[in-house]
Amino acid sequence: MHTIEVAGVLIDTRHYVNGERLASPATYTNTSPIDGSFLGEIARGDADSVNAAVAAARAAFPAWSKLGPKKRGELLNKLADLVEANVETLANIETLDNGALLRSHLRGVMPRVAMNIRFFADYAINDLHHDAFETRGHTNNITWDPSGVAALITPWNAPLMLATWKIGPALAAGDTVVLKPAEWTPLTASYFADLTKQAGIPDGVFNVVFGYGTEAGAALTAHTGVSRISFTGSVPTAKIIAHAAADNLTPVSFELGGKSPCIVMADADLDLAAEIAVEQYDNAGQVCLSGTRILVHESVADSFAEKFRSKVAALKQGDPRDPDTDIGPQVHQVHFDRIKGFVDRAVAEGQDIVWGGGPNAELGGLYFQPTLVKNPAPGSEIVSAEIFGPVLCMQTFLTDDDVIAMANGTEFGLAAVVVSGDRDHAKRITDELVAGTIWVNCFFVRDLRAPFGGSKKSGIGRDGGTWSFDFYADVKNTVVSPNGWKE
Ligand code: NAD
Repeated sequence: MHTIEVAGVLIDTRHYVNGERLASPATYTNTSPIDGSFLGEIARGDADSVNAAVAAARAAFPAWSKLGPKKRGELLNKLADLVEANVETLANIETLDNGALLRSHLRGVMPRVAMNIRFFADYAINDLHHDAFETRGHTNNITWDPSGVAALITPWNAPLMLATWKIGPALAAGDTVVLKPAEWTPLTASYFADLTKQAGIPDGVFNVVFGYGTEAGAALTAHTGVSRISFTGSVPTAKIIAHAAADNLTPVSFELGGKSPCIVMADADLDLAAEIAVEQYDNAGQVCLSGTRILVHESVADSFAEKFRSKVAALKQGDPRDPDTDIGPQVHQVHFDRIKGFVDRAVAEGQDIVWGGGPNAELGGLYFQPTLVKNPAPGSEIVSAEIFGPVLCMQTFLTDDDVIAMANGTEFGLAAVVVSGDRDHAKRITDELVAGTIWVNCFFVRDLRAPFGGSKKSGIGRDGGTWSFDFYADVKNTVVSPNGWKE
């Protein structure tokens, strides 16, 4: 039995290699975070499955790379059409598998999957261009050539959405792909593989290997047949992958963790600030970009906290399939225990837990309450480490210098949020912040033309527009002399 029925459709639990399904001798159990129910036994990839997938991707590369952006774009747009036609199915599968809100998957996340593929397909055709320029009469012609096989390793918090930030540009650039999705959330990748087949993407161009990071992931990142490694996940895993990549000098792109500041200035609209603060609990706090350190000017701290409290009190925690639910479960027992460990240790240290502080007793299972820690001890674990759950810290500041030092005072530099009523003041702050993305009076606005990535330990490289192609492609300059022509 290699298929399971999830959300009313059949999903194959085997790898997808060379357009066909490939079993592994071993499997692992996948359960739903909503209620712990059994979803299926998933192929547990090893070096053999990875070797088969890389071999298939390498064999498919010459034809796919020569197809050119236009023909590739037609197939990728067909794939995007199929994703759009299957938004509801994909949304339901993803919610069962990772526990994120169904209404978000339906309205935002799955339509964006289609958009990601379409955007990069069209960008390769229409926008990937650098004007030729002259050097002493010689012409520099810059092109983006396909590079080979891209190994893509992705996390579980927005499984298909994050994967297509990589799949889209890699395939549009003319690379072939081996995807290793996170072990806790394999299902949408399998369904997506079927859609690539229906779209007419040639066999071997897109491959998926399931399994554990330490097995399938390690074999893939160490593989000599891979030309690029694109990884989204945690800093500790990135360090392991960086070592593997170093042995083969394989270029890497890393989208890693964060402990981003959400700054509320004295001149801020406090209703807006509270609205933005509550959004930091989105996806049960399992968002890399989340502004988990709320830094609020002392003069407005009490009024802000009151507004924030009433918004948090209105949040409904529960089954993510219920359209009224705002906060669902954590993704997995292991992750739930990790979050609980952080909070338990903060409690043991005597930190001030303003609300939440533990599992939701009524719901049981993997539902952790939205939690706020006030004025955490400087340098303590709760305010330094990435928790990746619904746990925020709130600290106060007095001067701009203070808040800039606090905001930049972590090893991360993924994102920052600034809420201010004064444009010049906001700019003085944003100019000093170290972060790949800064949102002013907003959160989570993302345009695929813009660069996205992290500073410091939050990543290496940038995704989006030309930045993505700069990574997946071999950027080439052909310098043509005015001399030597026989015309
Ligand atoms: P993780 O690092 O544990 O795992 C991510 C992926 O790496 C999984 O597919 C896993 O199987 C694989 N992996 C694990 N060990 C490996 C190894 N030795 N070799 C190769 N692959 C291996 O991260 P996670 O818990 O799945 O995701 C949460 C992390 O991801 C957080 O730190 C979060 O901030 C980060 N994240 C970052 C972004 C971003 O865009 N910057 C987006 C989402 C999540």
